[in-house]
Amino acid sequence: MTVKPAQVMVVTPHPDDAESAVAGSVARWICEGKDVIYVVCTNGDKGSNDISMEPEELARIREQEQLAAAKLLGVREVIFLRYPDQALEDTSEFRKEIVRLIRMYQPETVVTVDPYRRYLGHRDHRITGRVVLDAIFPYARDFHSYPDLLEQGLQPHRVREVLLWGSEEPNYRSNITDTFDIKIAALGCHRSQVGDVSSPESKERRRQRYRMLAEGEDYELAEAFHRVELWW
Ligand SMILES: [Zn+2]
Repeated sequence: MTVKPAQVMVVTPHPDDAESAVAGSVARWICEGKDVIYVVCTNGDKGSNDISMEPEELARIREQEQLAAAKLLGVREVIFLRYPDQALEDTSEFRKEIVRLIRMYQPETVVTVDPYRRYLGHRDHRITGRVVLDAIFPYARDFHSYPDLLEQGLQPHRVREVLLWGSEEPNYRSNITDTFDIKIAALGCHRSQVGDVSSPESKERRRQRYRMLAEGEDYELAEAFHRVELWW
């Protein structure tokens, strides 16, 4: 199985999480010539306060919103796993799917959600983060983990770096000063989730948040992550 490798793989629990967390960095990486792909784990079909909204319709809308955001950013490919929203489990099937994609696209960097937030946190986020970390090590690395993947030509792959968003212990900041506007535009594609984000007040509120994350740096705006480097 031959697929063009992508330097960066973003694994997001729901459509819209990636835009909130990492779209500024995604846009910068793409400007720098990197290939970025998205893996969207759930279909987001519970994410509405409107009781008249049918879950199937919401899932369809959110997929379109995700595709529009990804297109705006220049993301090469979006892979939808379509697990039901709020029902993600740490299963061997889900883990193997992530391993398969890591081996297929051979990313240097995997970006996902930090599973170690204490107290309140979305269960799908916790499970996504944990399963992706497990998939990176040891399952994507080891020949004997999935003999059937090997038979399909999917060789083990060693990811170099993991960036976890939403971390209580950020240790790495990414400059989004030049890509803030496109991040907000991409976020705005998720209208079913964020409404209208284009007003000057809303933009300024968000700018403030990313300004705080860049405090002490010689640039204005940052996204923050917990970075894990892997020395194989
Ligand atoms: Zn989410």
